Order: sequence, then structure tokens, then C-alpha cells
Amino acid sequence: MKKIILGLAVLSTVIMKAQTQIIAHRGYFQAQPPTTENSIASLENAQKLKIYGSEFDVRMTKDGVLVVNHDEHHGEMEISETSFKDLEKLKLSNGEKFPTLKDYLKQGKKDSSLKLIVEIKPAKTPEIENEITQKTLKMIKDMKLEGQSEYISFSLNVCKQIKKLEPKFKVQYLNGELSPEQIKNEGLDGMDYHYSVFQKNPTWISEAKALGLITNSWTVNDAAVYQELKNQGIGFVTTNIPDQLKNK
Ligand code: MG
Repeated sequence: MKKIILGLAVLSTVIMKAQTQIIAHRGYFQAQPPTTENSIASLENAQKLKIYGSEFDVRMTKDGVLVVNHDEHHGEMEISETSFKDLEKLKLSNGEKFPTLKDYLKQGKKDSSLKLIVEIKPAKTPEIENEITQKTLKMIKDMKLEGQSEYISFSLNVCKQIKKLEPKFKVQYLNGELSPEQIKNEGLDGMDYHYSVFQKNPTWISEAKALGLITNSWTVNDAAVYQELKNQGIGFVTTNIPDQLKNK
């Protein structure tokens, strides 16, 4: 009997570790040849890897166009203060046109096996955040990508707004200060925290899992950190080196 229990414990640990899944951070841009983060090419690269998902950042131009870009600025232009017409005059460093969310989602739809991890960036006011959130969800629904999309944000307002509009959509909070219990109480689905937060709070991954929350960590670009998180049974890691981590 003891042997069976031990065997089951080992087996469950193996299964638990095997369940850690890989998300490419801003697409897979550190590829051969390298490309620009958050570009269509970086998403195409991620699609070739056969991993869980690919993350990207959503912002809104002054005239209300949703675009994919990490920084507040595109070149010298502040995205939220510039019209799309002016922004698109400047190409990405790989020569692509400045990507709209619509163009990005069209590419994402070509491979339904790769989840789209949509990060909605915080905006200057809650009202603007709510507008970006509402428009993003509408576009995803119009394109019938609901089942392929999950959401993350540093803004608790954005996270709660998504759950208010679409209670079934999966939402993870990025900012790191809320405990698993607080995440649960806010009605969110999970925590996607910087790995240093999990190192400082070594019980959080198991607590989150016990509460049925999704556990995810960014930006895990080190195999040793990946192993440490995997040993704790983390569900997902978000990384710039998805090609290297996917076989570890
Ligand atoms: Mg991001």
C-alpha cells in the first residue's frame, strides 16, 4: 500500500511538473533571424513553435484605433496623443507596418492552437481604460476569437472591467501586490507575476493552485528560474526564450 501511495505521489508530481506551459513574450522575437517584438513576424514565429500561447500589448491611439505596441511611444510619438495616420508613417524596425490589433488578431486566427494572451496596457484614466477594454473585447468577439483569447493587465480596473463585461473570459493580474486570496476575492482567474514576487512569497503558487487560480510568471528568461517555478508546480511561464524552455 505504501508503495502504491508513494508511486501515486511521484506520478502526480511528474504530471504536475509536466503541466507547466510556455507563453512567448511579445511573440517570439529572439528567433533566427531575430525580429521586432510585438510584430506580426514575431507572432508567426511563435505559431511555428507549438507552444501554449503568445502574449502581446494593446494600446489605443488618440483617434481610437487599437494597436499592438509595448511602449507608450512609437518612435518619438506618444501613441495615446497621436492619430493612427501619423503613427503608421513610421514602420517597425523590421520594416513591417505599425500593427493594428485587427491585423494582429487576423494573423492569430490562422492558428487556433496558439492562445492569444492579450495584455491591455493601463491608460491615463479609468474611462479610457474602459473604452480600450470594451473595444478590445468587441473586436475579439466580432472575429470569433473568444475561445482562443486570455487577458492580462497591470491595471486592476482593466481586469475587473473585463470580468464585468465578460464573466467567462480568463483574466490574470500582473502587478504582483495581491495575494492569491485577494485575487480570488476580486473575482479574477489568476495571477501572472514577476518571478521575484513568487521567490519572496514561496507559498503563493501552491496557495493559488489550491484556490483554483491560474499561475503564470514573467519574464522567465533563465533556465534555473524556470526549473524553480516548475518545481513549485506553476501552470505557465511567459518568456523571451520559448524555444529553449519548451523542451526543458
Ligand atoms: Mg506585455
